[in-house]
Amino acid sequence: MKVIIASNNEGKIKEFKAMLSPLGYEPVSMREAGITAEIIEDGETFSENAHIKAEAIYAIAKTPVIADDSGLCIEFLGGAPGVYSARYAGEHATDAERNAKVLDEMHGVDLPLRAAKFVCALYFIRDDEHEICVTGECEGFIGEEPIGDNGFGYDPIFMIDEDTSMAMLDDEEKNKISHRARALKKLADVLAQEISK
Ligand code: IMP
Repeated sequence: MKVIIASNNEGKIKEFKAMLSPLGYEPVSMREAGITAEIIEDGETFSENAHIKAEAIYAIAKTPVIADDSGLCIEFLGGAPGVYSARYAGEHATDAERNAKVLDEMHGVDLPLRAAKFVCALYFIRDDEHEICVTGECEGFIGEEPIGDNGFGYDPIFMIDEDTSMAMLDDEEKNKISHRARALKKLADVLAQEISK
């Protein structure tokens, strides 16, 4: 089944393709589906934003859509960057600039207070009658400096243990433990149950 991933984030699209293709889905990006919509993500939660994106794309395409809204939440920063993860250092900043801003704000903060988590909300609309929202989380802490070349976004500053950042994992390893993988697993389980009904 063809499913549009309501995102133009190449990092996310790559992960969806790797995780959904083995389940029999054919994920296509908005670009590949020929959709160029500017969506205002003004929800207060990841789930609300995922819902907004999924509805907007489904209204245009009328084919199955999965929207992902995700980001990094740092306890010490009151949950920031949270839903503002993509624009935390301004609209046109780079991943490196966003990471530098977070590291700056966390400078001198002791390890026990550096707890963070990645959160992912997925909103799937199959047709006018079937839609579902699931979430997944991955816990870790903020490192002292960026490390690792894989992944995207905040991966280089997100430590999954003392020696390993998310950006040090290869694609396959990240796709086993990430917030997105956990949300997708829930979605796949629900879809499998529906099919067997
Ligand atoms: P969205 O496209 O509005 O959901 O923005 C999500 C932002 O959160 C991205 O631009 C990244 O900065 C960050 N983010 C989401 N998922 C990941 C991940 O798996 N690794 C690193 N950063 C992520």
